[in-house]
Amino acid sequence: MSDEPGRLTRLTWGPAWCEAVGLVRGWMEEAGLATRLDAVGNLVGRREGRRPGAPALLVGSHLDTVIDAGRFDGVLGVLLALAAVEELAVREKRPAFALEVVAFADEEGVRFPCALTGSRAMAGTLDPAVLGLTDRDGTTLAEALRASGLDPDGLTGCARKPGEILGFLEAHIEQGPVLEHEGVALGLVRAIAGATRLEVLVEGRAGHAGTVPMRLRRDALAGAAEMVLAVERSARGEAELVATVGRLEVLPGAVNTIPGRVRFTIDLRSPEDRERTRALADLRSDLEEIARRRRLGLRLVPIHEAPAVACDPALLDALARARVRLGLPDRRLVSGAGHDAMAIAAIAPVAMLFVRCRGGISHDPAEHAAPADIEAALAVLVETIVLLSEEFR
Ligand SMILES: [Zn+2]
Repeated sequence: MSDEPGRLTRLTWGPAWCEAVGLVRGWMEEAGLATRLDAVGNLVGRREGRRPGAPALLVGSHLDTVIDAGRFDGVLGVLLALAAVEELAVREKRPAFALEVVAFADEEGVRFPCALTGSRAMAGTLDPAVLGLTDRDGTTLAEALRASGLDPDGLTGCARKPGEILGFLEAHIEQGPVLEHEGVALGLVRAIAGATRLEVLVEGRAGHAGTVPMRLRRDALAGAAEMVLAVERSARGEAELVATVGRLEVLPGAVNTIPGRVRFTIDLRSPEDRERTRALADLRSDLEEIARRRRLGLRLVPIHEAPAVACDPALLDALARARVRLGLPDRRLVSGAGHDAMAIAAIAPVAMLFVRCRGGISHDPAEHAAPADIEAALAVLVETIVLLSEEFR
């Protein structure tokens, strides 16, 4: 289901997303789940446990995609959750706790400048001011909700009470090359990396490319080039720190003009907040040194900051033991990408299971996970729920 012919684009609250939510809701009801759609568009299908009204284990992911997306990011986790519930029903196993299959709304945050909108609403950490954010056409988020039959006034009512949720398990494609590189089908996510994003403004002096001698120049791009290499260097020595300059804009941007200004971005991530903070401080002084030496102006503007989230040891342990029961190797890794589990961690323990994806490719039509790996993930999810149920009091 796509908003565009010929490629997969399913933006939250758009026609294709609404259709997908309807389809999955139908499948949930066929599986005997009681469904509801909350005010922001989170779809929840619930099956009561042996004890009615018991807290719920949430399992799921998201149904929205980026533009020109692959077919696995998000959807895989929702369908695996539904398949796990169906499998438990076939085996006539009813866990002690309730099970909820969740399809979060707007994980990707493509249309409006905010992400994890559904999961943050469920966690009660979403600032209602987001309702005023506008998309490229000037439509507000509140209007987009109304247009898809949802209720912006009900936003605060999406928040779940901490006691209602035992935990959240999210299966997701890895979106990176580590598992494939090591020849392992599944990985347990130990932590989701925290991130800092900055915009860097470098101010030099524009001039004629033919008339200004080299020694009299203050070339903003030559300075920025040195800074980009400093960003790369800052993460080279640390195993789990990654640093990226993803956008660079040169002004005025003419073939015969010395660049007078450069704007670029830095994205810094690590599962250890202390490591990220330290790297940022070192990087800042490196950039200042480069700017001083080249007589350039420098401004660093923070645009995003999110702390790392550790996955819950008890849930991770259950996932690990489920793998042992199934004869699968234990492999733990860090998620460099953000996920709904990050938001839900504010109100409940979370853990994630990564499925190997071909070439580590994601957010691209070439995204692919092998059916055998998906089957293994399903087996681990089912076994984990069984284990948690055996130990639930
Ligand atoms: Zn995703």
